Parts: sequence; C-alpha cells; structure tokens
Amino acid sequence: MPEGSPPAPIPFIDLDAQRRALGPALEEAVLRVVRSGRYILGPEVAELEAALARYTGAPYVVSCANGTDALALALMAWEIKPGDAVLVPAFTFAATAEVVAWLGATPVFVDVREDTFTMDPESLARGIATARRLGLVPRAVIPVDLFGQAADYAAILPLAAAEGLKVLVDCAQAFGATWQGRQVAATGDMAATSFFPAKPLGCYGDGGAVFCHDRETLETLLSLRVHGQHLEDKYENVRIGMNGRLDTIQAAVLLAKLAVFDAECAARDRIAARYAAALADVAIVPRVAPGNRSVWAQYTLRVPGRDREAILTRLRAEGIPTAIYYPKPLNRQRAYAHCPVAEGGVPVSERLSGEVFSIPFHPYLDEATQDRIVAAVRAAIAAA
Ligand SMILES: *Cc1c(COP(=O)(O)O)cnc(C)c1O
Repeated sequence: MPEGSPPAPIPFIDLDAQRRALGPALEEAVLRVVRSGRYILGPEVAELEAALARYTGAPYVVSCANGTDALALALMAWEIKPGDAVLVPAFTFAATAEVVAWLGATPVFVDVREDTFTMDPESLARGIATARRLGLVPRAVIPVDLFGQAADYAAILPLAAAEGLKVLVDCAQAFGATWQGRQVAATGDMAATSFFPAKPLGCYGDGGAVFCHDRETLETLLSLRVHGQHLEDKYENVRIGMNGRLDTIQAAVLLAKLAVFDAECAARDRIAARYAAALADVAIVPRVAPGNRSVWAQYTLRVPGRDREAILTRLRAEGIPTAIYYPKPLNRQRAYAHCPVAEGGVPVSERLSGEVFSIPFHPYLDEATQDRIVAAVRAAIAAA
C-alpha cells in the first residue's frame, strides 16, 4: 500500500462473499426461472412458502413483495381502520408505523427496553391506556424483533390477550430467531418478515412473507395479495387489496439461500461471541435475553458519554463502515410527529438514538477482518 493512502474499506454486509460461497446453484436456479417463463406465481413460490412453513413451524405462509406489504397485508386482514390504534415501538424502522397510517389508523408510540432495544411491556400498558384516553380503539400491537432478537413475548402476549389486542410480530430483521425455542415467525397472531437483500435471509431484490395460524386468515391474505380477488373467480373482487406478489425469481433465490441459512446463523453466533469477548470492556455490547436466539441482523454497540461522531469518523478513516440504526425515534420524524406517544414518553428510545452505532456484520466475516474491525473500534473509542 502506498504510504499515506487509507486502508482498503471493507463492506458493511458482504453479499458477494455469500454469492461466491453459494456457488453456481443459485445462479442456475435463477436461470431456470428465466427460461421457464413462469415469472409470476411460478412453482418456486409455492415451494418456498411450504419450505418457510416447515422451517418456522407456522402453519400457513403467504409470500409477498416486501416486508412493508407483509405488515400491511396482516393489518388489512384484520380490517384495521380509522379510529383504531396500533401500538408500535418508537425505536424501529419507519415501515412498522407507516402501514398503520396507510390504513388511516393511528400509530401510538411505545418505548423500548434499554438492555435489548425491544418493546418495553410497561410502556405498552401505558400506551394502551393513552390510546383509550384519546378515544381510540386499541386493536393491535406490533412488537419488533429489533436487530435480530425476539421482543419480550413472555410479557407482551399475556398483556395483549388481556387487553383484547392482536399481536403482529414484525420479524423483518429476525427471520430464524427463536423465543423459548419457538421461531419468532410462528409467534403472535401473525408475523411479517422481509427478504430485503441485507436482512438475515435476503433475496436479490424485494421480498417478504406473512405467517398465520388459520385457514380463514390464509384465504383472506391470498385474496388481498392479488387485488382482493375471489379465490375461485378471479374476475370477482370481494375486497380492496393490492398487487403484493413475490417474484418467482426471488423465490428461487430464497430457496437456494434457505439451504445454507442454518450454517449462516451458526456463523453469526460465533462472530457475535467473538465480538462480545473483544469489545465488552470498552463498549456496551448487545445482550441476548435468556431463552432468545438472535440472528444478529445488526451488531449494535453503545458508548454512553463518548463522542459518537468522533468514533465513527475515525472508523471511516480506517476503512470500517458503520451505520446508525436509528438516529431518531419515529416520534421525532416529521411524518409521525403528530402521532400519540405512550404516557411517560419514550425516553429510552430518545437516548438510544444518540448512543448506538452498528459495526460490519455478516456470516462470511473472517477472523482476520473481525480482528481488524475490533482493533479499529477499540482505538477509536480510546481516542474519543
Ligand atoms: C426492513 C424492515 C421492514 C420493511 O421491510 P421491506 O422489505 O424493506 O419493506 C419492516 N420492519 C422492520 C423492523 C424492518 O427492519
């Protein structure tokens, strides 16, 4: 390396390393679809849905165009409407709240727990009361399995049941994660996931899936996915739906990737353990709650009291990319600033957005690169 030139940057998520590891099988699967001509709802789509049901233990799976549509399809199946409240964490990706607003219902923001970044059940209880006080009808809660880890379902499920709320699990970041030995996609009344390329199980474009537990909901979701069609008579539209199908090519990609997914999850666990051992004395490393298995969609550190910007600037100079998920809680975003917040506010979400940063993480990260990242992170924190 010429003197003075910055170290070569490493990728934040290395999808090309995964592509190389998968070999020609994946590309051949895509070509098969191209040659078959069955681009919409080809046989790979049903094959994928069956494979996802087997993998998760969820009885019924409906694949769809992306994770946002997956959330929307679930809420549409429940006929969420204006006047309804849906409780969502303030510390999440915007799509979790966006789908509620699509239907004219009101997202009510709930705080998260500092140790796991997932929904705080006590704030949820306060949020339900806040919604009622505002004259809204609390209909559902969307716990988010943030950064790859299950939300606190042991507390959230009984609370939702007692209050008459449906539970829609947003496992867009956590396909494959488990809670008490159960796949998160099979938890709650319905679950929605995303196959966006950078998610733990990603395709080569947009994709998603909804998981449900009864045949009637399955049929409603299938109808909603194709413009609210009658399932036997496609020229009869029985409800307002959407065009929400998953492309056959993406289903073929996902089937190939599902074959190596368990090995990837094991690699993710190993890397997370190595990171924790090497960083726990200089930063707050992620905590996995007892009974949970994370799929590590992000490896997120906190350095309270340190200058985060200075740390990230130093890492950038060393060729180490970082990301801030999330720099602002949703209640601070312009589009959501008018939405109600659970009584007591969301102080943890506000604080976390000023402290967190995520470092490169993917299952093909070799030990030498991990060590380079760890050394750079330690040096950047020491200098901040
Ligand atoms: C990615 C994501 C979504 C949306 O998924 P898309 O496939 O990008 O539409 C929803 N919720 C959370 C928490 C996400 O991270």
